[in-house]
Amino acid sequence: MRQVPGGSFQAIQEYFQQKSCRYCSNLFSAEGIKLLREEPGVFVVRVTCQCCGHPLGVAIVGAANNQSKKEKKLPPEWTRKDANRLSSLPPISFDDVLAAHEFFSQLDAGWQRHLPQQNQA
Ligand SMILES: [Zn+2]
Repeated sequence: MRQVPGGSFQAIQEYFQQKSCRYCSNLFSAEGIKLLREEPGVFVVRVTCQCCGHPLGVAIVGAANNQSKKEKKLPPEWTRKDANRLSSLPPISFDDVLAAHEFFSQLDAGWQRHLPQQNQA
């Protein structure tokens, strides 16, 4: 399992800046990578192409810093639904980001309809 070097949002930005937009083939820029949420060891980012405006999608990225598995702390603002959905998942690696990338790349242009409506800037 690969882990985020340094486990920082900056590392995640650098990771996505090595990826190119599937619509215009330009590399993603740091400005297009927004941190939506940060939890201990987990970042939720939205990646959008700054050149053509196409979204790559929302990715949940783990900053794996050898967190203890036995003591799993849930963020206090998580709802019960969040906890049920997320707490049983294994620690997230960059491989999951790649999987998310593949997943989002297969969705049609209306994929955002499937996301909860919140903080849509
Ligand atoms: Zn683009």
